[in-house]
Amino acid sequence: MNLANLLVRSACIDPQAPAVAMGKRTLYDYRELARRAGALAASLRDGLGLQPGDRVALAMSNCPAYLEVLYGVWFAGLAAVPINCKLHGREMQFILADSGASVLFAGADIADALSPHVASLPSLRRVVIAGSAEYERLSAAPAMRPLARAADDLAWLFYTSGTTGRPKGVMLSQRNLMTMTLCYFSDVDVAAREDAILYAAPMSHGAGLYNFAHVLVAARHVIPESGSFDAQEIFGLAEHHRNVSMFAAPTMVKRLVEQAERGGVDASGIKTIVYGGGPMYVEDIERALAVLGQRFVQIYGQGESPMTITALARRHFTNRAHPRFRQRIASVGVAQSAVEVCVHDDAGRELPAGETGEVVVRGDTVMPGYWNNREATTETLRGGWLHTGDVGVFDGDGFLTLRDRSKDVIISGGSNIYPREVEEVLLMHPAVHEVSVVGRAHPQWGEEVVAFVVTEPGMQLATEELDALCLDHIARFKRPRQYLLLPALPKNNYGKVLKSELREMLTGRGPQ
Ligand code: AMP
Repeated sequence: MNLANLLVRSACIDPQAPAVAMGKRTLYDYRELARRAGALAASLRDGLGLQPGDRVALAMSNCPAYLEVLYGVWFAGLAAVPINCKLHGREMQFILADSGASVLFAGADIADALSPHVASLPSLRRVVIAGSAEYERLSAAPAMRPLARAADDLAWLFYTSGTTGRPKGVMLSQRNLMTMTLCYFSDVDVAAREDAILYAAPMSHGAGLYNFAHVLVAARHVIPESGSFDAQEIFGLAEHHRNVSMFAAPTMVKRLVEQAERGGVDASGIKTIVYGGGPMYVEDIERALAVLGQRFVQIYGQGESPMTITALARRHFTNRAHPRFRQRIASVGVAQSAVEVCVHDDAGRELPAGETGEVVVRGDTVMPGYWNNREATTETLRGGWLHTGDVGVFDGDGFLTLRDRSKDVIISGGSNIYPREVEEVLLMHPAVHEVSVVGRAHPQWGEEVVAFVVTEPGMQLATEELDALCLDHIARFKRPRQYLLLPALPKNNYGKVLKSELREMLTGRGPQ
């Protein structure tokens, strides 16, 4: 089993199918994409002396070279280490050292900032700048065919964002990624040759993992020229390419909706927006459905079972007549077909529908473990289940509703408060644009609830109104004791709200 064969297959069946576009410009077809990948692979093996199993890191923002390098790595039987290109040089250095990467492909924009941090890494033999003369030379070598790999061989080594402690390397095997890809077709969406996948979010993360399903059907891969998330650009590209699918974090969906509300955009080119990676509030998805129409699928996954824990399929968004429609769109859907998903209590016992506990997963998408970290592996995979650290509850129909990450749960006066529940209520207020609720240490109660609020531009907000809203909808002890207004919430480049930074602001250790 080698994921690279997906590309070889499409290049044989459909050599002239357009493969890669930079903005509106098609760069090359499947035959050329496969040739470039095969050439890079031969250069990595013969020119740079890499052996099957060696790691090759990628620190690049979205660009056409991303796909070529990924497939080049797999053709040569190597493992890819995709690095979030917004990390600090020191953080990248840690990942490069921990993974023992032999070669780093770096974007020209970050190469200078990175160079002092990579100079003394013993395992790193070469840094290749994407698009440089050297890169072009490597991708012009006589191409090789993919090497045979075993299903359990490492394909992708992904470092978790590491909000606490050092990031951990999630090992994903060929089998993990192949199963994830088949789940795309069974649980997420159909994909076809006429489609295009638009990389609106970083390819180093979930968006990049959706390349496989689209390579498999010889669809187009569209890289926005801006290299970042620009809602206007995305609508323009969708209008141009048509049948466009993309993965977007909920915060990105929100920006698309706001752009559409400002007018002058045409959403008809968007076939599917798969969202996930963080909570989507009911108010926000209702608004997105009203403004952009029924183009949505939700997935819930985590690096350790990539994109593949549950999914909320398109039909659940369209079935408004269903008596539990609102609960369903507030949920993350049902278990994807290749995995078992349960909710466990602290003692590892399965809980029935209606009871809240930790979400656990097992199946062929679940990582075999963390790289060189037996302790974290044993802890996370205990009893044969992946312990997600997410708190959730199933309903009687098999729909899972996530409460929060267990570390985000606020315990006040001995009661659990799920920030998301409070956030959902605050978002009902028309002047609340964004909100994030965290806990602050309290001498008497253990923790108290604090809400960070971003107001809608041009609107006034009286906190008494927020208090009244909470008293109307949730128990008194859950309502925030303080509201702090911010111009924007801190987010990472995957669009996730950084609650750790908000907590640091409260302890005075972060920016105020
Ligand atoms: P990461 O490993 O960085 O992809 O983060 C995974 C975490 O993001 C999960 O464990 C969840 O806490 C959260 N997450 C992912 N998908 C969803 C979703 N659809 N709704 C709410 N939270 C999500």
